[in-house]
Parts: sequence; structure tokens; C-alpha cells
Amino acid sequence: MRIHNLNIVFKISERCNLKCDYCYFFFGGDESWKLHPALVPRQVIEGLGAFSARAARDQQLDAIQLIFHGGEPLLMSKPRFAEMCETLRGYENGFRFNFGLQTNGVLVDDEWIDLFERYQVSAGVSLDGPRAINDLHRLDQKNQSSYDRTTSGLRRMQKAAAHGRIPTPGLLSVINPFADGAEVYRHFAHDLGITRMSFLTPDYTWDSVVGKSVIRGVERFLLAALRAWLADKNPKIRVRVFSELLAAMIDPHAMELVQTYRDDYRNIISVSSNGDLGPEDTLRTLDPRFASMGLNVAKNDLKDLIESDAWREQADAATIRPDGCNDCEWWKICKAGRPINRYSKARGFSNHSLYCSGLKDMYAEIGAFLVRNGTPLSEIALRIAS
Ligand code: SF4
Repeated sequence: MRIHNLNIVFKISERCNLKCDYCYFFFGGDESWKLHPALVPRQVIEGLGAFSARAARDQQLDAIQLIFHGGEPLLMSKPRFAEMCETLRGYENGFRFNFGLQTNGVLVDDEWIDLFERYQVSAGVSLDGPRAINDLHRLDQKNQSSYDRTTSGLRRMQKAAAHGRIPTPGLLSVINPFADGAEVYRHFAHDLGITRMSFLTPDYTWDSVVGKSVIRGVERFLLAALRAWLADKNPKIRVRVFSELLAAMIDPHAMELVQTYRDDYRNIISVSSNGDLGPEDTLRTLDPRFASMGLNVAKNDLKDLIESDAWREQADAATIRPDGCNDCEWWKICKAGRPINRYSKARGFSNHSLYCSGLKDMYAEIGAFLVRNGTPLSEIALRIAS
């Protein structure tokens, strides 16, 4: 199989200055981070550079998306970060790295902005909502609020973006089931001026011990946030989880992108700070077979991962329709949702999404909005027909 779009989540720091209690990486049950270097060593950076060059050559890739991740990636010192970027750029032969970075924003200062600008790093910030909602889970190591420091870092990035120095920062928000999605959306879009954001369903599986009220709360949040976004009718505000779907219902090319990339984890691999290779990062909490695959950038190629059983499971998850989705009219744009939300120990990924009911409401709401605004229902039906 050929990979057309390779995203590498690179764990350059396996420690954090916050302790968000829902964090899959530190509190999801996989404690391998304790055995890994706190900061990625130079030899692993070089190993990843060489691995990426081989992958680009073998898969005929013009570009690789390399996302600096953690833990908190900005715990790396600035000189070391600059050296890492220089080293990686040195491996760009016949392909280029598109650098991305996901941060909690707390440490972002003007010097970091300079580095993002110099090395063309597209950075995103994690925040869960207004202070009261954000602070329910995103506290620092001393149990203090992270809200002011995160929004201060975000503002610096927005200012630099407004001057064309760096790309507009995106914002990633984990849904709080007890929060009002409309309030959270409006805080981001209206109070903070965010124009690129997405909402992430919590990483629950069918084995998670959570009540129906939590699942329903997540679904309610999504619908309320969607309605608030639709009411704004502002094409400059992009909420990825909604925008992609809306585009897919009216545009064949957008539908093709959703079909190819949305929740298909074959597009994403992770590299730990010790160089270990694995599939998409959240999967490591599901089972040791995803966390310890025995593959490393120092000795393996991408094809070793692609030929693994764990990868075949990802291929099945992306292509085989679970029984629960058999009669669903939304299959083509849903594909059973995020893989982690359809997983159970007994059946692997062969389940419909834990949030199925809310996903259906979301698709129907977007379809109804399009019809209200002039798109013929028959056109949408044709587009989503499997
Ligand atoms: S909406 Fe539900 S039934 Fe339909 S494809 Fe998604 S998870 Fe499956």
C-alpha cells in the first residue's frame, strides 16, 4: 500500500508543565513515557530525519507533515529547538517537512514566535473554553489555573500572525460534557478572535466506565457549538469538525478529502522521544500492541509499520463497515467516527461510535442548514449516498 499523506507526531518532550487530568499521554494507562528521555536526544532527531527521507523516497512524497508534540514541546530549550529544526531541514532532499506544533501556550514568548517564524512552524494551542471550564481539567503542576498564561501566549501568536510573520494559530479543544458548546464556541470566536478551531470528543471507548449522561453531554455540546457556528454564518471562522462535513455535502472534492483523510489513522504515525515508532498516538492507551511495537526510526522503515498487524487493523477500521453502521445513511462522511471512540477490547474497532446518536444529529443539522440556504436536498442525498 502507498501512503499519500504522511503526518508524523513527534514527541520531542515527554514531560509537561500542566497536568490535565484527561491527558491520554500521561494518565491513559500507558506509562512508557517514564522510560523515555524527557527531551528527544540528537541521535533520535537524526534518526527521524533519515527515516523520513527514506519514507519520502519509497512513498514518493513531496512533503511530510511533522508535528512537534509532547508532553509540552516548548519544554525543549530554544537553542536546542533551533538546532533540531536545522538538523531536520538538512534531510530535505527531494521532499520538504511542513513543521507543525501543538502547545498549551503557557511558555510562548516573543523568542518562541521568532523561532516559529524563522523555521516556518505552524503552531496550534490547546484550550478548553472560558476560564471556569478550562480550569476544570487544565491545571498546572501546582494546581493553578493555566487560562491566563495560555491565552496570553495565544494573543502573542495572533499578533504575529496578523503581521504575516507566522500562520494563524489554530485552537484545539477537548469537549467538556457538562459545558455549553455554544458558550465555548462564542468564547473562542467572539472573545478570543479564533478563526481556526476544532472540538475533540473525549477519548472514551466502549470499555470506558462513563455514564450515559457524559456521552449525552458530549453530544449536546457538539450540537450547541454547531448551531452557534452556523448562526454566525461567518465563512472566515473555520471549525474543522463542522467545516469539513459541510463542504463534503456540497463539493465532490471536499467529499473526496473527507473520504481519504477524516479519521483514517493510516495517515498518522507517532515517534516517541526514544525513536520508537507507532500508529496514531491516542491508540497507545488501548492496548500494549499499539504502544510497544518493537519498531524504531534507527532500524526500521515506514514499510515495516505499514506491514504490521496493528496497521492492518487501522486499514480495516478505515474501510470495513461495522455491523452497527450497516443501515446508516451517513456512513460515507462518518465512517463510524474517531477510531478510539469505536474501540472495545472484545471487538476491536468493529463498533459504531460511542457518540453515534450525537454524530447523526450533527450531520442532520448541517444538512438542514444547507437546505434552508438553497442546496437541494436531492444534491446532498446524492453526495452522501454510499
Ligand atoms: S452515524 Fe453512527 S451508525 Fe452512522 S456511520 Fe456514524 S457511527 Fe455508524
